[in-house]
Amino acid sequence: MSEFLHTTTDGDTIRLKLRRTAKKNIIVRPASGCLLDINVPPFVSMKSLSEWLNVNEIAIKKLWQQSEKIAAALPEFIWFRGQAYPFTQISVLTRVQWHKQYGFLVPMVNSQSPYVLLKAWLKQSAKKELLLRLQYWANVMQLQPMAMTLSQARTFWGVCRRRSGIRLNWRLIGAPADVVDYVCIHELCHLRHANHGKAFWAMVAEYCADADNARKWLKKYANELFALDKFS
Ligand SMILES: [Zn+2]
Repeated sequence: MSEFLHTTTDGDTIRLKLRRTAKKNIIVRPASGCLLDINVPPFVSMKSLSEWLNVNEIAIKKLWQQSEKIAAALPEFIWFRGQAYPFTQISVLTRVQWHKQYGFLVPMVNSQSPYVLLKAWLKQSAKKELLLRLQYWANVMQLQPMAMTLSQARTFWGVCRRRSGIRLNWRLIGAPADVVDYVCIHELCHLRHANHGKAFWAMVAEYCADADNARKWLKKYANELFALDKFS
């Protein structure tokens, strides 16, 4: 991954982050901090990439404007265990720290967005905490999935398949404990009942006192739990 600058015909400078991917086409997306992510197939040289950018200048400029808008709407709070915490950048730090009172303290690393560091920290925590909780409920309910892993999906909080087991969305690390419990219970119940029929919900209710509230919480705060997605 490397950054480079492209100058448009009318003299604007656009910052791009280049990734070489095995895809067939060039793909450009707005990223955070006035930056465009560009995925380029291995056979495209820098010279032909530059020509391609000139040809597609109008579209590129539109994406660039979008990335400026993203930069202007940076999240001020980071969700962790059901609470939104502020974060502060501190130059002497070497790694992200979390304090219940102060929120997140983030090291200042050149050219690295604090959001990228926070996201990595949250993912690490998700790995420890969410899977532990899922194992806890698997023990309580005496149901053992084939595997327990985290997912990056944008479309579900949890998924359960008999053969591949249960996957929990890592972004649940931002949700309160009872909401995480609800998702674990929901997915474990799918080991008994594949669909969302009456028997399924009766089983969920056996372990989860307020499934409705948990679902409402997820709906209400989904966007905020996904807020770090625009940073990579
Ligand atoms: Zn379900």
